[in-house]
Amino acid sequence: MSEPPIFCQGLTKKYDKKLAVAGIDLEVPPGICFGLLGPNGAGKTTTVEMLEGLNHPTSGTIRLFGKSWGAGYDQELRERIGVQLQQTELADKLTVEEVIRLFRSFYDRGRPVDDLLRAVALEEERNQRFHTLSGGQKQRVALATALAGAPDLLFLDEPTTGLDPRARQLLWEVVERFRDDGGTVVITTHYMEEAAALCDDIAIMDGGKIIARGSPRALIDSLGRVQFVEFETEVPLPDLDRLRRLSAVTHVDLLRGRYRLTTDRSLEALSTVISGLAGEKIEPRGLTTKIATLDDVFLALTGKELGEEDS
Ligand code: ATP
Repeated sequence: MSEPPIFCQGLTKKYDKKLAVAGIDLEVPPGICFGLLGPNGAGKTTTVEMLEGLNHPTSGTIRLFGKSWGAGYDQELRERIGVQLQQTELADKLTVEEVIRLFRSFYDRGRPVDDLLRAVALEEERNQRFHTLSGGQKQRVALATALAGAPDLLFLDEPTTGLDPRARQLLWEVVERFRDDGGTVVITTHYMEEAAALCDDIAIMDGGKIIARGSPRALIDSLGRVQFVEFETEVPLPDLDRLRRLSAVTHVDLLRGRYRLTTDRSLEALSTVISGLAGEKIEPRGLTTKIATLDDVFLALTGKELGEEDS
């Protein structure tokens, strides 16, 4: 059997006293898009940098395609991976085509420049200088440079941070095509919509550890058949106990000024909650209902939202 694109065991990284990565075991099979999802500071970038051979682990084992960094295979491994860093500073004076041509020249084998320009939908901008591009276009150039060596394994570190929805969608399409052609993708993100849309398999990270793993659907289903009823009140409630006492409510959170009640996913539970609120003389404002997302999985596991900093 061929070796998996990624295998690691007991991976840790300590910066002075800070344990940024606290013991990670991971195996990623070929041909999937694998997501590392977690809040800022969870240890995603550090983990990916160690996998890429750019950051030396404090302890643990890493093998890409069965080979370890620093064991005589580094050049071979570098030829097989493509890396798009979180923020890419590329030579401002160069045109799009010149940047891609430069990166292509670093590899013995690789994709033709025209093919790369087409893959990232930048044929029309090929003669435009890099510094005049939009944020989304710059990220697509960075992606083209990561694809230049025709890698088998592509690392993307928060590739769509700050991009608008259209630009994000365009980038996802390039990544999906790479995966559909048999490539393996590792992507870090703190956008749960991105992980849900793109990833076949996700590891949720918090505090340097993987706290849950599975497909987006399996992770969401792990919460059970729940729904959330959210609302505000004109005057904040003195405590959450009145909400906790309502029948059909299994859990209560207060998130950014909105109350959030968890119930099972049925109309009956919804109507019980609404009449319960009326019985308690609580007047909900802006009431909405929603089913669970990956954000809710994270909240259920950690008690905090994905948008929050890791402490
Ligand atoms: P983000 O989404 O913000 O990129 P992340 O999940 O990628 O976050 P890391 O960048 O891996 O998290 O950081 C994990 C922890 O390690 C953080 O507390 C960070 O401050 C710390 N850290 C990262 N790099 C260093 C460094 N070079 N020296 C000291 N501490 C570091």
